[in-house]
Order: sequence, then structure tokens, then C-alpha cells
Amino acid sequence: MKNDKDRGVHSAEDGASPPSTPSAQANSAGQSHQPATVPKPPEPSALRGWIARRLLDWFTQSQRRLPWRRDRNPYRIWVSEVMLQQTQVTTVVPYFERFLQAFPTLSALAAADEQEVLRLWEGLGYYRRARDLHRAAQHLVAAHGGTFPNDPELLRGVPGMGRYTVNAILSQAFDRRLPILEANSQRVLCRLFGRAEDPHRAPLRGWLWRAAEEVLPRQRVGQFNQALMELGALVCTPAAPRCGECPLRTKCHAHRLGLQEAIPFRSPPPQAVAVQESAVVLRQGPRVLLVQRPDRGRWARMWEFPHGELTNGETHEQAAVRLLRALTGFDGRLGPELTTIRHGVTRFAITLVCFEATPLGGVFCSVFYQQGRWLEPAELAAHPVSAPQRRLARLLSEPSRQQHLF
Ligand code: SF4
Repeated sequence: MKNDKDRGVHSAEDGASPPSTPSAQANSAGQSHQPATVPKPPEPSALRGWIARRLLDWFTQSQRRLPWRRDRNPYRIWVSEVMLQQTQVTTVVPYFERFLQAFPTLSALAAADEQEVLRLWEGLGYYRRARDLHRAAQHLVAAHGGTFPNDPELLRGVPGMGRYTVNAILSQAFDRRLPILEANSQRVLCRLFGRAEDPHRAPLRGWLWRAAEEVLPRQRVGQFNQALMELGALVCTPAAPRCGECPLRTKCHAHRLGLQEAIPFRSPPPQAVAVQESAVVLRQGPRVLLVQRPDRGRWARMWEFPHGELTNGETHEQAAVRLLRALTGFDGRLGPELTTIRHGVTRFAITLVCFEATPLGGVFCSVFYQQGRWLEPAELAAHPVSAPQRRLARLLSEPSRQQHLF
């Protein structure tokens, strides 16, 4: 049986048309022409059994012991999948443990205050994920009694549930035969089948989803999907893939052609845009003013010290004076510079110069923020803020700073 399948693979390799031309890309990059004897890449369906056997054996031996792999609880899998979007595994692990301790069930998450959910998400970034997770939990409790429906149709359309997330949860929790495609598995498939085009563009994107489906085994689907991602994370890495350790190397087209570093196509990263901002720490006796962002947009409903971008050739001091009035409604006297925080948000490289200020009159009235609260430094910890704002809050909580400020 095993030999029959292997023979089938070879005959498909001999007869199938190549789906793309990685050798042509190599030629344009100045590499030599490929010899005519190089076999064409196989069809994904022809390798199904072979990939599954190799990959599942490798996964059993080599997988990382991660907290969301301890059981097949769909809620735990869901939380981990959402946290892992755009975020490294090592960063996610402590967040996952804390989050599950606070909200051990779908019902507990649905009943939670959104501010508490955001507070536990603080530092992971992309806070919309946390808000969607919370709203989706409320929807699942209301519509399905707090259970996770084993049905992709019922999950699609729930806040934050795209095709990848739905398929990842259902394949891992219920072994549903559903494919997944994310950065790691996409890279493995592109290299294995020698697809050199841009995987984010339509023609290859559709092919990749079909390939991810065609290589799925009939059993252990969830483990297979995890194995594909794990191989991309640990062995078939973006730079310097460790082909010598790879269970798929004997049939990997990119490896055979020496193109593993060139595939898949990667567009150059966007150029960073420098942004200058000023922030104002307004103090009144022992307390400072914290303000809440609007219900929509980036960092919705999170808290921060009033801050904004410089305009029309302003200095940081001039911007701080203008922002103090516009963003808080208070008249005030600007004090010394406290600190400068540099951080990145998407393609923006932000320099935030922070000043302290003393209010001289007025009431809270802002062109942007929805409310303000006067808080003592110890109370700042209970409010969800972005990572750079937390750095500023921590600085204010240092005893040496308090003596100066308060
Ligand atoms: S052989 Fe190399 S390029 Fe091919 S799948 Fe394995 S690690 Fe990736």
C-alpha cells in the first residue's frame, strides 16, 4: 500500500504541469539555468498520504509543549489562535495563562467587563482582537448557550472569526476536515510545491487554500494542521530554513532547486514614517489626568495621557500647549520635559516627548477624548493603556518621580 502511494506520487511528478516557474525567477536573479532533468513539482493531492505520515511522525517527536495543546477544549484553542495572530509564541504563553486564569470559560469571558479584558490584553497590541473575542463570547453564550458550535457555518460571521480562525478551532477541537493557511503553513506549501509568486495575491492565494485542503489527511486533521504550522515555525523558517532536519525535504521542490531562500516571494517592507508627538501629564495635587479614547478607531475605549501629533512646524513645547487646551479643556502652565518615548505602530516610528503641566482653571472638555479621570499613580494600573503609555505610567509611579511630581 505504501509503495503504491509512493509510485502514484512519482507518476504525478512526471506528468503534472508545473504551477509556476521558480527556475525562471532564479534565472532573472542571476542564478544558473536548471537542468532539464529536474522533475516538475507534484500536485498536492498526489502527496497527501506521504506528507501526512512524515509530518505527523515529526510532530509527535518535535512539537513544542504549549499550554493550549494540553487538551482539545475549543475555547482554549480559540483564545490561543487569536493571541497568536501577529504575535510570537513565546510572547503569547504568559498572556494565555493569565487570560485563562481570569476567564477560564466562554461564559466567564462573556460576563467580563471589557476594560478588564483589555487590561489583560495590554502589551499584546492589536486590541481589536480582544474586543472581538469579548463580543464573540457574548454572542456564543447568547446564541448557543455558552457552548462552541461544531459547525463552520454557525461560526462564520461571529466577530473576529475569519476562515483561518474557524478552521483552526474546528480542526483542532473536533478534527473537522478543514484546511488552514497562515504565514508558516503558507511558506511550507509554497516551497514544497515550488510556487514562487506573491502568496498574498489572488491567483496563488486561491491555489494555496486548495492545496492546504488537498493535503489534509482523513484523520488527525487538527494535529496535521498544527504540524504544518509548527514545521514552518521551527524548521522551514523565513530565513535559513533547516532543510537537513526537514521530514519533507526529499520531495520539496524549492530544496531540490536550491530556491528555499528565494521562495516565497516577499515584498520589501514599507519605509518607516517618522512621527513627532507631544504628551501632557497634567497634575493636580497627588493626582494626574488620564483620558479615555473614543468608542471607535485605534485603541478604542483605552486610556492614556493626552497626546497628539505636531503640526505646521511646531516645537514639541508649542504642540504640548495647544494639545493641553484642545484635548482637556483646561488652561495650564507647561512644566519641564519628563521623558521621551520612542515606539513603533505599524509603519510609523513615533517619538513622543512628554511634559508635565499644572492646571490653572477650566473643566474637562475635549475635542477627542470621551472622558477624563483624576487618578493617583497607584490607580493607573487598573486602567487598560497601550504599551508606550504604560511606560509613561510606570515612570510616574517611581518613588523618585513622585517626589518631584506630587
Ligand atoms: S526541505 Fe527546506 S524548504 Fe523544503 S519544506 Fe523542508 S525546510 Fe522548507
